[in-house]
Amino acid sequence: MNAQDLTELVVNLCKRRGFIFPSAEIYGGFRSTYDYGPLGVLLLRNIKDEWWRSMVQLRQDVVGLDSAILSSPKIWEASGHLDNFTDPLVDCKNCKERWRADHIEGICPNCGSADLTEARAFNMMFKTFVGPVEDEASVAYLRPETAQGMFVNFLNVLQTMRKKPPFGIAQLGKSFRNEITPGNFVFRTREFEQMEMEYFVPPEQADKWFEYWCEQRYNWYLNLGISKDKIRLRKHEKQELSHYSSATSDIEFLYPWGWGELEGIANRTDYDLFAHTRGSGQKLEFFDQSSGTRYTPHVIEPAAGATRAMMAFLLSSYDEDEISGEKRTVLRLHHRLAPYKVAILPLSKKSNLIEMSNQIFDDLSNSFMCDYDETQSIGKRYRRQDEIGTPFCVTVDFESLEDNQVTVRSRDDTSQVRLPIDQVRDFIQKHINPINQSN
Ligand code: ATP
Repeated sequence: MNAQDLTELVVNLCKRRGFIFPSAEIYGGFRSTYDYGPLGVLLLRNIKDEWWRSMVQLRQDVVGLDSAILSSPKIWEASGHLDNFTDPLVDCKNCKERWRADHIEGICPNCGSADLTEARAFNMMFKTFVGPVEDEASVAYLRPETAQGMFVNFLNVLQTMRKKPPFGIAQLGKSFRNEITPGNFVFRTREFEQMEMEYFVPPEQADKWFEYWCEQRYNWYLNLGISKDKIRLRKHEKQELSHYSSATSDIEFLYPWGWGELEGIANRTDYDLFAHTRGSGQKLEFFDQSSGTRYTPHVIEPAAGATRAMMAFLLSSYDEDEISGEKRTVLRLHHRLAPYKVAILPLSKKSNLIEMSNQIFDDLSNSFMCDYDETQSIGKRYRRQDEIGTPFCVTVDFESLEDNQVTVRSRDDTSQVRLPIDQVRDFIQKHINPINQSN
């Protein structure tokens, strides 16, 4: 299947099976915004949970945060975003379309004209007003990244959590950027979710921790099933570096349209803590009691996109194969990411089978996200579950009523085992065990 097809197949599957819907679809859609449907919200939540588990839960040196989305202009003035968070915007003089200059190499992708305006800096932050009066004093911004929330809470966290460098603050949540050309489905949208961590270290340890986090984060994707030929770490050239960064490596995924960023790991030096010290007048420093010295920590930041990662996981798990001469679509999602872990399928609609199936659902749904489906033929129901990536189907048949056993079918090789009902939970649990390391 060619690249264009794969994107189309995944986009169609997302719509057809309730992963992602165009926002405001009944009104004709709304400017590249998307709504995450019943299955999308589960997949996205599982991605975020895995990130949180590896970045916060399994570590003693990282704590969480959930800072406000509506934010003070003072934050963005100090951080440099008001001046620098811009993309170069050009207009095509022929067809009037607008483009990001660094994405189009001097030719309008719409009409092919090279008659473009000079590039001008376009600030990507969404501006709004807080309170009933729309004046300069009530301006607020929707955060364009979660990172600044961690910097401005540095002292709060330091004081309340008794941490000392190296330690990190992690946060996930929505960010907003007024992208000039959103596109490639949820790869680039104006409203998206990020998963970011700021890791504060003694300055002399910054290089070491930068390498450490590049490796950790790269392995996280591998452990969740992205194959090695689809992912790479790419070091930024000097001229590519952001104004705050002394080193950056991107984790890139091989999207159908080519290599593209999935996550950036940056050595942000002491840029942000200094900037907010200057802006607020509060010293954002660490006092090391053992040596009696004060210093401004340097920061290593792994910054990932949750919605962009979801796109990568969907693309890399989409597969088509043939089972007994019949074509099927299967999402080979890592078991821990799959929206449903198990589907309970009564073989017929006879009331005693349905009753038993409902009991199994009630029992298993205490432990896992389960689906229940009694419609259509069993073959069709298996196909439906394969298509949404459900790793296991539990089929309840007439024999189950006699021997209290069910058939457990696995998505990847369609193999089946017969198991006593009271062993099903352990069987599934064993297969979706947490990845057994810090990533
Ligand atoms: P790009 O170069 O693709 O615009 P960026 O370098 O500006 O991305 P960062 O500021 O490093 O991105 O943000 C960290 C992560 O947030 C990115 O790696 C990406 O996964 C995600 N991200 C950034 N912008 C968007 C967007 N518009 N839509 C979806 N995800 C995004």
